Amino acid sequence: MIIDAHMHYADDDPDFLALLAEYNLKFLNICFVKDPQVDWRDQASLYQVMASQHPDRFAWCTSFTLPDLTNPDFVSATWQDEAIAALDADFANGAIACKVWKNVGMEVRNADGSFLMPDDPIFDPIYEHVAARNRTLLTHIAEPIACWQPLVGDNPHMGYYRDNPQWHMYNRPEYPSHAQLITARDNLIAKHPTLRVVGAHLGSLEYDVDEVAARLDKYPNFAVDISARLIDLAIQPTAKVRNFFMRYPDRILFGTDVVMRQRPSAMSPEERNAALSRLRAGYETHFAFFDRGQEMTVRDRATTGLALPPAILDQFYVESARAWYPGL
Ligand SMILES: [Zn+2]
Repeated sequence: MIIDAHMHYADDDPDFLALLAEYNLKFLNICFVKDPQVDWRDQASLYQVMASQHPDRFAWCTSFTLPDLTNPDFVSATWQDEAIAALDADFANGAIACKVWKNVGMEVRNADGSFLMPDDPIFDPIYEHVAARNRTLLTHIAEPIACWQPLVGDNPHMGYYRDNPQWHMYNRPEYPSHAQLITARDNLIAKHPTLRVVGAHLGSLEYDVDEVAARLDKYPNFAVDISARLIDLAIQPTAKVRNFFMRYPDRILFGTDVVMRQRPSAMSPEERNAALSRLRAGYETHFAFFDRGQEMTVRDRATTGLALPPAILDQFYVESARAWYPGL
């Protein structure tokens, strides 16, 4: 069994299910709310149905509709009550976690025009409720540090900001800095010590595993997933990254973060073969890096695999996800 604890991919196409069976994979599918006013429930419904029909292959993580603070009729207590009721309905329908996405801190505004931060007191009853129901909060707060840097050099994330300039924060002092966002996320963790918090994408501290380790040492209720950050591990010194995994195998979750643009069952056979081949190639690259000690490339960068021992791999691939997401 291998648990991919950060996915956006669910379907009941037989070829796709056969691929999951071949690797004995289980996906945690994660909802995210892109816009406060856009309905994200179609995504939630698909993930929920797939998890109930194939519980050995899929689990799901819900989210909550964001507060519309710029609406003059907005009432915090009403929004909180509705969000909590919706979470309880999703928990009753199998959701094992709740996600807060990067638009909190970088996009959603308070009534006065300032940014709504992830440690804002308006979220406290929601976070406390997630903890009281023994669910987990998944946070994708901030972005890779390259988001705040000029589009020069060989940082592996620059291509994304070239293609998505709306998220590129370099030279935009009116937006919160990387440090401000990380501090707000850390405040959230410290403020809710009984809440399990998983930081997606190495907790947005992908540029240095020592920065991740410092948070793991400080906050016993914090873990991270590595989703979409294999390249960041591959370009740091091999011995340092290996030591990080040897020290914290119970605090690091395996995940890849593949986003499904179209359901495999709706594709032509050729499209489906291509999509499933890409999925397979992604796993093979991850397994080569973590399992084996050979020279290899990750996104065209030369690196060396970590050759982690079997007991460490078992924690990283399976047991840490089960511990941080009870019910997986
Ligand atoms: Zn994701």
